[in-house]
Amino acid sequence: MKQKLGMLSLGCPRNLVDAESLLERLNSKGYRIVEDISEADVALVNTCAFIEEARSESVEAILELIELKNKGKLKKIIVHGCLAQRYKDLNKELPEVDAFVGSLELNHGTKRFALTPKHYAYLKICEGCVNNCSYCVIPKIKGRLVSLDEESIIQKVKDFNRQKISELNIIGQDITGFGMDLSGRIRLTGILKKIISNAPDIGWIRLLYLNPERITDELLKLISSHVQVCKYIDLPLQHINSRILALMNRKITKKEIISLIEKVRKVIPGVCLRTSLILGFPSETDKEFKELLDFIRDAEFERLGAFIYSREQGTAAYGFKGQVPRKIKQERFDAVMSLQQEISSTVNARLLGKQMDVLIEEKQDGAYIGRSQADAPEVDGLVYVNSRRLLKEGEFAKVRITDTLEYDLVGEVI
Ligand code: SF4
Repeated sequence: MKQKLGMLSLGCPRNLVDAESLLERLNSKGYRIVEDISEADVALVNTCAFIEEARSESVEAILELIELKNKGKLKKIIVHGCLAQRYKDLNKELPEVDAFVGSLELNHGTKRFALTPKHYAYLKICEGCVNNCSYCVIPKIKGRLVSLDEESIIQKVKDFNRQKISELNIIGQDITGFGMDLSGRIRLTGILKKIISNAPDIGWIRLLYLNPERITDELLKLISSHVQVCKYIDLPLQHINSRILALMNRKITKKEIISLIEKVRKVIPGVCLRTSLILGFPSETDKEFKELLDFIRDAEFERLGAFIYSREQGTAAYGFKGQVPRKIKQERFDAVMSLQQEISSTVNARLLGKQMDVLIEEKQDGAYIGRSQADAPEVDGLVYVNSRRLLKEGEFAKVRITDTLEYDLVGEVI
């Protein structure tokens, strides 16, 4: 009788792609994949170990599975992913776990066991990173950047196109690094052109995790000239003060960031700019934090994610002087989030009466819920859509905005 296998995938979309290819492999090896992990014989938890918070979430999930196993409800527990990759002696602390499997290499196969709703998918074109930001442990977990070969990428895109998905999200730790390991051969803009030409039926192609140091004019031109490519630039900046940026080993200065943002807004009118920032980096002064607040106010990012600096063993910043007290880090985080709440309200209010395409995702309490081009899955806002006609999951509807909220919009189908 086939063993029932359940998967719990934690962490980022890159981890989710690993989970999808892992499930596909186990499915082809004869496991029956069940959605509810408590019904499984074998439970697989795909872990994240990026920062303290993510690690605690992973350990908590494992402990819950151990409890199920101790009650005889589970036969086996497999821990996969970054936690197992980063901590080789976990088996001593968690002897109830049957196997620890580090991160898999890039999946060159085309089959995937979808863990996303069927109307959107992630395509991971590269793994690992060469940037070595001083606060980041990912290069230690995932290694140096490795690009997926062009043939596998095109085959995956053709499969997604055949499945008629509505949105394809292109991901990696840093997709602007794509091809750096394939010296002299294709780079990001080149592979994007091939992805676009093999995806005629996919409505939106979204780029996530663009490193500001490697945004080229060619890339911006491609984004602005192809209707399928979302006018959405995900630009993790982490900070704006040049001294802090240098300590973070980010190879870009304040001046360069400001002119990059000006160029992006000029080349792609109406673009949605998303960024992520780290608050409370070692030795960050009140003055430098104020500089960051002023920058956020001026730049008016449509989307912004903020993280409290997490002191990670094995990173250069772990040993930096001037570690900022937790209370101060929290205060700075709260200040940024409340400022961004105001900015997001202002930015949204400008969309009142505007028309936009909305990707319909589900129906709830009589209204439809969808996303605009300015909303990446899971991390950004939503559009609540009223419609007299029936709408289908994965359909693009033309919507006029009738009301605006802090992070979300309300509209009606026209
Ligand atoms: S670019 Fe991103 S993944 Fe790479 S080292 Fe920096 S923070 Fe980590």
